[in-house]
Amino acid sequence: MKGVGTQKSALLQKELGVFTFDDLLQYFPFRYIDRTRYYKISEINVNQPMIQVIGRVMSVEVLGEKQSRRLVAQFKDDTGMMELVWFKGLRWVEKQVKVGFVYVAFGKPTEFNARYSMSHPELEIYNPAAQKAGNLSLQPVYNSTEKLKQHFLDSKGLQKLSLALLESIYGQIEETLPAYLLSKLKLAPRNWALSQIHFPRDQQSLDAAMRRLKFEELFFIQLRLLRAKVLRSGKFRGFVFGAVGDKFNTFYKELLPFELTGAQKRVIREIRQDMQRGAQMNRLLQGDVGSGKTAVALMTMLLAADNGFQACMMAPTEILARQHYASIAALAGDELVKIGILTGSTPRKERRLIHEALQEGSLDILVGTHALLEDVVQFKNLGLAVIDEQHRFGVEQRARLWKKNHTPPHVLVMTATPIPRTLAMTLYGDLDVSVIDELPAGRKPIKTLHLYENQRLRMFGFMRQEIAKGRQVYIVYPLIKESEKLDLLHLEAGIEAISREFPLPQYRISIVHGKMKPAEKDFEMQRFVKGETQIMVATTVIEVGVNVPNASVMIIENSERFGLSQLHQLRGRVGRGAEQSYCILMSGDKLSNDGRIRLQTMVKTNDGFEISETDLQLRGPGNIDGTQQSGVLDLKIADLNSDQPLLQLARQEVMEILEEDPELSTEKNMLLMKYFNRNQNLYQHSRIS
Ligand code: ADP
Ligand code: MG
Repeated sequence: MKGVGTQKSALLQKELGVFTFDDLLQYFPFRYIDRTRYYKISEINVNQPMIQVIGRVMSVEVLGEKQSRRLVAQFKDDTGMMELVWFKGLRWVEKQVKVGFVYVAFGKPTEFNARYSMSHPELEIYNPAAQKAGNLSLQPVYNSTEKLKQHFLDSKGLQKLSLALLESIYGQIEETLPAYLLSKLKLAPRNWALSQIHFPRDQQSLDAAMRRLKFEELFFIQLRLLRAKVLRSGKFRGFVFGAVGDKFNTFYKELLPFELTGAQKRVIREIRQDMQRGAQMNRLLQGDVGSGKTAVALMTMLLAADNGFQACMMAPTEILARQHYASIAALAGDELVKIGILTGSTPRKERRLIHEALQEGSLDILVGTHALLEDVVQFKNLGLAVIDEQHRFGVEQRARLWKKNHTPPHVLVMTATPIPRTLAMTLYGDLDVSVIDELPAGRKPIKTLHLYENQRLRMFGFMRQEIAKGRQVYIVYPLIKESEKLDLLHLEAGIEAISREFPLPQYRISIVHGKMKPAEKDFEMQRFVKGETQIMVATTVIEVGVNVPNASVMIIENSERFGLSQLHQLRGRVGRGAEQSYCILMSGDKLSNDGRIRLQTMVKTNDGFEISETDLQLRGPGNIDGTQQSGVLDLKIADLNSDQPLLQLARQEVMEILEEDPELSTEKNMLLMKYFNRNQNLYQHSRIS
């Protein structure tokens, strides 16, 4: 491209991942400067977005000390006065802003001490001639980097590149969506949309361009996911689990210590039907914490055993794997099936025995961690893989399990983090979904309250009361990598305080944290599980899966530092028995706005889906637990939060298209097939065999 030499192109590649014309075309502006009009100072109100004001700088001075040090310029037009404020780079700004000059200030107006101000405005010397020549009503603003800026590729420089590119290839940009879809949904052509997204004629054109490009992005994600699903069910034969045999029936009739909820029954039915079809099952099981997913998983594994297959269950942590093993073994007993456990800390000798038992088929169910994925772990006949807390495993890991048998085993993915529908559609769009939307009968909703540090005595008093009733208490501390040292200090101080308040011999305390050896952790955990200790002080290692029905109080220290889904998971550790359970959120006095909303949400509701919706709004989809590693959420233009309707539409359209033309072989869908040919690498995910 003209104007882009080797140095610039290397920088564009490195800094922005822009390698090709297409990449550059898809490097969209992140906002637009509305140069359609200037505002008078008297017209300003704080509800306005970014606006531009022409005025004269009357004075510039540095005010305040230390953190509140700032540069303030008085800015005046013929209707009034406002302030321009900078908190950073004072020295530099001071040199740039000249008293007596007329500038165009561009920024977001705010109000402070009954005066309007703009902080860190963009300033340009007012030049009536240049303003007219520029003549762009909505000017694109591109994200740039320090390095790019040093080589004249700031927003303006990038703007020039896009413009030059568009001028040279306009009219040659290929359409990606079939014509019938464009006319049906009134979508703008790609060529036009790409030019308007960079240089919109007006707001209306920009909106139309955005809609088109967002739709395209969401549409192809859905096409990829749903096509993968179609291909899988067509291509991959699956084991047929036709029989419901002795193991399942014995368990159901004689061993299961409770009546299944309606939702559990329904879900087991869905799974059974799926595993009889002759195609591989890929199913997501969603259910809030405590909804009883483990029993469903076990019964599914018993079905596998009844049909002569082995099953495995993979969990993301050692503790969780052990918990699963313990609860499954307790439910199923020794007679029914042979169950083993394999984790990173399984001793060599035991490991070898397990490998052998797996290969000769004397082990029916293997529970474990990532250790299951290793190549040395060979099954005689793996028919079903259950993956718990899927969000911690990547797609690749899921795929490695497929290779453990000549025909890929059925896969049941369980997640206890309810995720908003739109996110589910994108993350798990290629899976069938079953939902346990009912908690076992007799559960009382957990009561949650938020206490400040100065109410700590109340918390201690409450703990004593509950322990006197024979209950057990969790106290959880944050342990976050970035502040690990400090967190450990807090934990230590906390343990000391608790030991003082709850002294031996009357009270006994278990302590579990990430720095301990697995065996130590396990030992402490077991003491609590067996009821030998009444208090469990822990870092978030107990986040998932721990099941102690007698524990009725969950205290979360520094709760403002936890994310919503984490809080919800932690709270889910109690409320598993018949008694009233409680969750106490301890926090400091100073709360950020988000922190306050998080705690309020927890106090207000026990509904995991409601909580996850709030979480999505607070943090955006890229930050929801477990989504980071999945590339599907690196969206260029669509927003899973605000573009929900468009996502629904895209998915709906894809479903209709694939229903009618699953192979995408008809003339009218040629462009869609072309997409797959072009994006071989994306296609690969759907071809794992
Ligand atoms: P999760 O879905 O969070 O994994 P679990 O499977 O650990 O939930 O179940 C939580 C608790 O509820 C366990 O103690 C389990 O034995 C119990 N449970 C599961 N299903 C039922 C049911 N239908 N009736 C009563 N208790 C149940
Ligand atoms: Mg569980």
